Amino acid sequence: MERITDQGIITGYLTDASNTHGHAEVLVRPRTVAEVAAVLAHCQATATPVTVTARRTSTTGAPVPDGGWLLSMEHLDTIYGLHEVGGGALLGEYQAHVAQLGHLFPPDPTSRHECSIGAAIACNASGARSFRYGPTRPWIEAIEVVLPDGTILPRIDRATPIPGDWPQLAWSEPAVKTAAGYFPADNLLDLMIGQEGTLGVITRAWTRTVPAPIGVLSLIAFFSDLPSTLAMVARARSDDALRPRAVEFFDHNSLAMVRDRVPDIPVAACAALFIEIEHDGEAPLEAWWDALVEVDALAEDTIVAEDERGRARLHAVRHAIPAGINEQVVANGMPKVGTDFAVPHAHLAEMMARYHAVPLRHVLFGHIGDAHLHLNMLPTTPEQLAEAKALYRELALAAVAVGGTVSAEHGIGKLKRELLADMVGAEVIAAFRALKRHVDPAWVLGQGTMLSHMID
Ligand SMILES: Cc1cc2nc3c(=O)[nH]c(=O)nc-3n(C[C@H](O)[C@H](O)[C@H](O)COP(=O)(O)OP(=O)(O)OC[C@H]3O[C@@H](n4cnc5c(N)ncnc54)[C@H](O)[C@@H]3O)c2cc1C
Repeated sequence: MERITDQGIITGYLTDASNTHGHAEVLVRPRTVAEVAAVLAHCQATATPVTVTARRTSTTGAPVPDGGWLLSMEHLDTIYGLHEVGGGALLGEYQAHVAQLGHLFPPDPTSRHECSIGAAIACNASGARSFRYGPTRPWIEAIEVVLPDGTILPRIDRATPIPGDWPQLAWSEPAVKTAAGYFPADNLLDLMIGQEGTLGVITRAWTRTVPAPIGVLSLIAFFSDLPSTLAMVARARSDDALRPRAVEFFDHNSLAMVRDRVPDIPVAACAALFIEIEHDGEAPLEAWWDALVEVDALAEDTIVAEDERGRARLHAVRHAIPAGINEQVVANGMPKVGTDFAVPHAHLAEMMARYHAVPLRHVLFGHIGDAHLHLNMLPTTPEQLAEAKALYRELALAAVAVGGTVSAEHGIGKLKRELLADMVGAEVIAAFRALKRHVDPAWVLGQGTMLSHMID
C-alpha cells in the first residue's frame, strides 16, 4: 500500500462540511482489512496519530486530522450483497442496490448520496425516516472492525461481549434522540456504533432491511400558526391511523426562502410540515385530511404527491431550503452556525420559543417528529458570528437543562467536546477517557474527536 506524502494530493482530504481545516503528513488508502490493520498497528507502535476519513460530510470536524496519518476508506467500498457492504461504500449507492432487490435500508441522512455507510454507523447517523425507524443502530446486525492496536475482529454482533478487562460505562443517555458520547452498551457491536472513529475502524457491515413499501404518500401541509402545527405533530405521533415515517418542520423563514421557487405556498402560511407515509397500496388520505382539518391546518392548500414524480417535486421543495441557506452563507461571506439539539417532547414548544427569539437572521427546520430541530443562524459580520456562537452555547445549555442532548445526529467531533462535558458531567467523561485509553493506549485513533487527548 502506497504511503502518499504529496501535499498536493493530501490537501483534498483536509477539511469537512464544517469547514474545519487540518493537516497530515501521510495519506493511506487501504484496499483490504489486513492493510487497515497494518496501518493501525504501525501507528499504535509509533504513537502516530491516525484519523479515519470517509466522505468528509461531517459537520463537526471529526474526520479532519491535526497531524499524523490519514486513513481513507474510499477503496473499501464493495457492495457484497443485499445485507453485506464495505465500510467505505456510499450509503446512497447501497440503498439503491437494496431497493433494486425490493428492500428498504431505512437510515436516510440528508447526506446519504455523499456519505459512507461506515461513517453512518460510526456516527449512528439519523434522517427524516428515523421518526419511524430510529437511527442507524437498529439496522446493523454485525460489523467487521479493526481495533486501534491493529487487531481484526472479523464479525462482532450483539452476542459479542465487551471484553471483561475493558473499563465499564455506567451512564444513561438522555431519553431523546441522541448521538453524543459512547453508547452505554452491553455488547461490543453497540459500543462500536456511535464511537465516531475513536475506538475502531469499521471495514464491513451486515445489515437489516425491510421489504420496500408498496406505496409512499408525501405531503406538505401548511399552518397559519405554531399551536396548530404542534397539534398536528402530537397527532402524528399518537394516532395509529396516520403512522407517518417522517414528520419534518419548516418555519416561516424557511418558507420565505423558497417562496420564489415554490408558488404553491399559501400567503397565510407561517409554518409547514413535510410528511411521508408508507402504505400497502391504499394511501390513508382521508385520515390525514380529517386530522388536518381538526387541528385547523390550512388543509385546502396541502400539496399531495402519490407517485414518484410528485414526490420528487416535494423533495425538491424540501431540499431548496438547505440550498437557499448555502447561497445565503456564500452571500454573507460568514459561516452559518447550526444547532443539532433534541429535547423531550414536553419541552419542544419552549425550545422553539427560544429559537424564534434569536435576534440574528435565522432559519428553523428539521425533524420535529423527534423534537429535533436545526436552527441555522446566518451572521453577516464577525461580531454577529461571535454573537451566534454565544447564543449557540446558551441554547445548548438550555436543551441540556430540560433533559435534552447537545447532538441528536451529527455527533460531537472536535467542535462540541466542551458541550459533551456540559451534558454528561466530569465523572462520565472520566469513564469515557478510561475506556479510550484502554482500547487505544497511545491515543492515536481519531485524536481530538469527542475527547481531548491533551489532558492525561
Ligand atoms: C448537507 C449535509 C446533510 C447532512 N445530513 C445529515 C442527517 O440528516 N443526519 C445525520 O445523522 N448526519 C447528517 N450529516 C452529517 C454527516 O453526513 C454524517 O455524519 C455522515 O455519517 C458522515 O459520513 P462521511 O462518510 O462523510 O464521514 P466523514 O465525515 O468522513 O467522517 C465522519 C466521522 O466518522 C469516522 N469514520 C468514517 N468512516 C469510518 C469507518 N469506516 N469506521 C470508523 N469511523 C469512521 C471519521 O473518522 C469521522 O470521525 C449531514 C451532513 C451534510 C453536509
